[in-house]
Amino acid sequence: MCGIIGYLGDREATPILMESLKRLEYRGYDSAGVAVLELPKAGHANRTSITKSEAKVDTLIEKLEANMPSGKLGIGHTRWATHGKPTYINAHPHTDCHGKIFVVHNGIIENFAELKAELEAAGHEFPSETDTEVVPHLIEANYKGDFLAAVRAALKRIKGAYALAMFSSDDPELLVGARLNAPLVVGLGDGEYYIASDITAIIPYTKRVLVLGEGEVAAVTPLGAEVSTLDGVTVKSKVVHVDWDVAQAQKGGFPHFMLKEIHESPEAVANAMRGRLTDDGAVTFREFDVPDDQLKGITDVLLLGMGTSLHAAMIGEYVIEDWVGLPARAEDASEFRYRRPTVGDHTLNVVITQSGETADRDADGAIYLHSGPEIGVASTKTLLAHMISLYLLALRLATVDGRVSLERRGELVEALRALPDQVRGILARDKEIVELAHKYSGYRNFMFAGRGLDYPVALEGALKLKEISYIHAEGTSGGLLKHGPIALLDEQFPVVAICTASATKDKMVSNVHEIVARSAPVLALVTEGDHSLDGVATDIFRMPAVEEAASAVLNTVMLQLFAYHVAVKLGQNVDQPRNLAKTVTVE
Ligand code: GLU
Repeated sequence: MCGIIGYLGDREATPILMESLKRLEYRGYDSAGVAVLELPKAGHANRTSITKSEAKVDTLIEKLEANMPSGKLGIGHTRWATHGKPTYINAHPHTDCHGKIFVVHNGIIENFAELKAELEAAGHEFPSETDTEVVPHLIEANYKGDFLAAVRAALKRIKGAYALAMFSSDDPELLVGARLNAPLVVGLGDGEYYIASDITAIIPYTKRVLVLGEGEVAAVTPLGAEVSTLDGVTVKSKVVHVDWDVAQAQKGGFPHFMLKEIHESPEAVANAMRGRLTDDGAVTFREFDVPDDQLKGITDVLLLGMGTSLHAAMIGEYVIEDWVGLPARAEDASEFRYRRPTVGDHTLNVVITQSGETADRDADGAIYLHSGPEIGVASTKTLLAHMISLYLLALRLATVDGRVSLERRGELVEALRALPDQVRGILARDKEIVELAHKYSGYRNFMFAGRGLDYPVALEGALKLKEISYIHAEGTSGGLLKHGPIALLDEQFPVVAICTASATKDKMVSNVHEIVARSAPVLALVTEGDHSLDGVATDIFRMPAVEEAASAVLNTVMLQLFAYHVAVKLGQNVDQPRNLAKTVTVE
């Protein structure tokens, strides 16, 4: 996830780009850059100056302050690398062969490899390793004197996700923006215009914004912003007046980062799959490109993580065993480290980390989450991205040797692809979840129970609740309940029971009967159409009927929202819970 900004107006562009990039830095901060069309001296052609830094925005700002380009049109970028390391060359803006067309991009061009091959065959040269660089070259290849037409023609060829801000040195009064599967807004100022990834970047300058729709292009000139489709059909966009202040804008209008990030889950789930999955379940990870031969030799899989990442590891353990048939085990990384290691020569070791900063990284390959920064200390969308990445890893392993039938792989792919919309469906039921959260917020103890994939989901539900609400919560497997935890239960000790469709659902239903017999209130998550707990559980939250792996994702989102609303009701500091830190780098 990157931040992009564009400016066209009467003022000097550079200081505005610098300030906006600072406000966008939360979206990505591994490198940064700006391109400004400099005001030409009489008799000289237009010239664009590019300034980049392979470090954070502050380093870019220092460079710009030392050598400030002067011009009224410019674009800027703060990067969160997906394709190519965070180097100077890979930093945006990117340009065409003649250094005339300038582009900043947020997203992933999924078909960049084939486009690049085609353009290279036609003589284009690509200094960077980014997917983004195909965009200016494709525009160049389609340019016949009309920049906007060339942009449209180029974008028609692109698959994947993009929010783009672009200009050409030949058109000093034209700034172009476009989006598909990535956010972009156009800010309407007084005789000046902005293009930005989000409102945060431009809120001090204007409160009037045009929200661009999917597949739309905005052509910004000193006369105004015109929005059209890729086919050139004019779109009448609505101007929105935002009355947020800067702090609210950073949270996208949500009261907390945690809620904003939960609401980014559909995008996080889609981004974790983007460009990696084909219809028949073939998976490609660019940064973990291990040939089938090598994967065939794997004897078992060890998954290491801590906290929420350990729960992700447990989910990985279940699906790798189930789909691939390989022995898999999830371990608490801090314990594992001090045990006598029993890792075989052919064990695939999967280390799960949210920040990538934790002490345990030194891997042969990586699977990036592409979910963007998470600011709330309690992890939410990154867990979903981890779950999806582990599902993909399991599918990747399953394709070796045809360990899973083509038909089954097809079913799983379909289930995964439907997930972003299904997550949206859960988010849309926020009101129902708020009611439940308020009803249950008075209890001081909670139990979360589940089986199979929903056992780690139950552990995570309990973890989330205790992290942000400071209510004591335990997670248990349904089976374990009778081996001790059930002794705690009484009418003051509610149980959140995950009873959605699975091979062990009937056993969970029996567990709920046992719980109810101890007078404990039960909030049950049940699959639509299943009435086995009607009149038994105190409250029932109905979940869509989906594949078990997808259901675990949806149950997780429901429990995240539940924990969030309980904590808010209790007035806790949701984004910065006491005693916790986002990244744990010491033991
Ligand atoms: N794919 C582009 C890059 O790696 C943009 C990254 C992003 O938006 O996350 O430079």
